[in-house]
Amino acid sequence: MSPPRHLIIGGGLAGALLAVLLARRGHRVDVFERRADQRVRGYEGGRSINLALARRGLAVLQDAGLGEAVLQRAVPMRGRQVHPLDGEPSFLPYSRNDAECIWSVHRGRLNHLLLDAAEAAGARVHFHHRLGLVDFDARRAEIIDERDRRVRWIDFDALLGADGAGSALRNAMQGHADLHPEIAPLDHGYKELEIPPLPGGGFRIEREALHIWPRGGYMLIALPNTEGTFTVTLFLPHKGRMPNFEDIETAAQARAFFQQAFPDALALMPAFEEGWIGHPTSSLATLRLRHWHLDHRAVLVGDAAHAMVPFHGQGMNCAFEDVAALDRLLVAHDDRAEAFAAFEAERKPNAEAIQTMALENYVEMRTSVDDAQWRLQRALELCLAERHPGRFVPRYSMVSFTRTPYALAFERGQWQRALLVDATRGIDDLAQVDLATVDARIIAELAPLAAESPEPPL
Ligand SMILES: Cc1cc2nc3c(=O)[nH]c(=O)nc-3n(C[C@H](O)[C@H](O)[C@H](O)COP(=O)(O)OP(=O)(O)OC[C@H]3O[C@@H](n4cnc5c(N)ncnc54)[C@H](O)[C@@H]3O)c2cc1C
Repeated sequence: MSPPRHLIIGGGLAGALLAVLLARRGHRVDVFERRADQRVRGYEGGRSINLALARRGLAVLQDAGLGEAVLQRAVPMRGRQVHPLDGEPSFLPYSRNDAECIWSVHRGRLNHLLLDAAEAAGARVHFHHRLGLVDFDARRAEIIDERDRRVRWIDFDALLGADGAGSALRNAMQGHADLHPEIAPLDHGYKELEIPPLPGGGFRIEREALHIWPRGGYMLIALPNTEGTFTVTLFLPHKGRMPNFEDIETAAQARAFFQQAFPDALALMPAFEEGWIGHPTSSLATLRLRHWHLDHRAVLVGDAAHAMVPFHGQGMNCAFEDVAALDRLLVAHDDRAEAFAAFEAERKPNAEAIQTMALENYVEMRTSVDDAQWRLQRALELCLAERHPGRFVPRYSMVSFTRTPYALAFERGQWQRALLVDATRGIDDLAQVDLATVDARIIAELAPLAAESPEPPL
C-alpha cells in the first residue's frame, strides 16, 4: 500500500515544520505555499520580522534535530528593559536562573531553515501555489498557480491547514464541519520600525533584552536581531480619544507623537520617517473555533486554528507544539479521524488558555510594568519562586521556560496571582510581607509542578 498523501496548505512556520516531521515518517507530503520561495527572492518582510522563541518551541525544534541551527541565528533575551517616559531605563530579569531566557529569531531565516529541512526529508514544496476550493467528497483540492492562474485538481488523503489566520482551508471546511468561527478583533493595531546598528557596527541599546516603552494605553517594544538592528513595534489604538493611528496622518505627525511619547526611542531611529511611511499599519485578532478538523479528511494547525494577539510571544511556539502533537498522534492512532479528534481534544484547551493569557499580557506590558504595586508583586513572585522551586513557578516562567501545558499554567497562574495580590495589599515593601503565612498557603494548596512536562511516550 502506498503511504497516505498529505497536502499541507501553507509553507510558513507551522507548515514547513509539519512537512519535516511527516516526510521523515515516510508520508507523501506536498506543501503548497502561495508566496514565492523566499530563499531565492529574499525575505519580503511582512509582519513581525523577528519573533520570541520560548523553551517549548525550542524543545520541539530540538526534538526535530534543528535546535542548534536555530540558536546559532538567535539572540537571547534575559529580561525586560523598561524605558519610562522620565528617568533611566531599568532591567527586570525574567528569572534568577541565567539559563531561563527567550530567544529572538528572524522569521525569514527560521522559515528558510525549516523549508530546507522539509525538502531534505523528502517533502515537495510548491511555491506560488494557493489553495482555492476543496471537493471533500471526491477528496480533491483546487490548487491555483499564482503566476499564470492555471488550476489543477489534486487528489489527497488528508488536507493539513497551516495557512495562517486567513486560512483558505478553514473557509472551505466551513460548509462541512461545525467550525463556528469567532473572530475578536483587537481595537489596537501595530506598525513596525527599525533601530539600525551603530555606524561602526554594534547594538545601540542593551542587546540581550526585550525593550518596552510602556505608556498606559499603548506601548512600543523592540527585539534584537543578530546583525545589530532592533525590530521595533508600536502598538496603538486604531482610533479613539488617546493617541491613535487614525489621527496620525503624516510622518511629521508621527515624529511629533514620538517626540512627546518615546523621545529616547526616536533618537535611535535616524530613518524614522522612511520607516513610518514604508511599513503598513496592521490589525490583530483572536480566532476561536468550535472544531479544528473534518473527520479524517482535514485538520487545522497554528494560526489557521487559533490566531492570537502577540503579547505573550507564543503564537509560533503554540503552533510548533501543535505540529509535534499532531505528528505524535498520527503515529499513535491507526485511524486518522481518531488522531485528528485526539489532536483537537489535546490542543484546543491549551490554545484557548494561551489566547486568554496573551490578551492579559497586553495590559501587563503596557501598564503594569511601570506600576509600583505590580513591581512589588513581581519581586514577591521571584522571592517565592526561590523559596518554593518547582512549586511556585511564576506564570510567565511556566509559559516561557517550561513545557507545562498552557491550560495548567493558566489555572495555577490565577491561584498565584490572587495570592500575590492578597499578600501585598496595603504594603509597599517586600520586607513587610507575612512570609510565614504565604509559605504555609503555598505548601498546603499548591501541588509541586512536574519538573518538566515531557511529551507522552509513543
Ligand atoms: C506582530 C506579531 C508579532 C509576533 N510575535 C511572536 C513572537 O514573538 N513569538 C511567537 O511565538 N509568535 C509571535 N507571533 C505569532 C506568529 O507570527 C504566528 O503565530 C505564526 O506565524 C503562526 O505560524 P503559521 O505557520 O500557523 O501561520 P503563518 O506564519 O501565517 O503562515 C501561513 C502561511 O500560509 C501561506 N498561505 C496563506 N494562505 C494560503 C493559501 N490559500 N494557499 C497556500 N498558502 C497559503 C502564507 O503565505 C504563509 O506562508 C507574532 C505575530 C505578530 C502578528
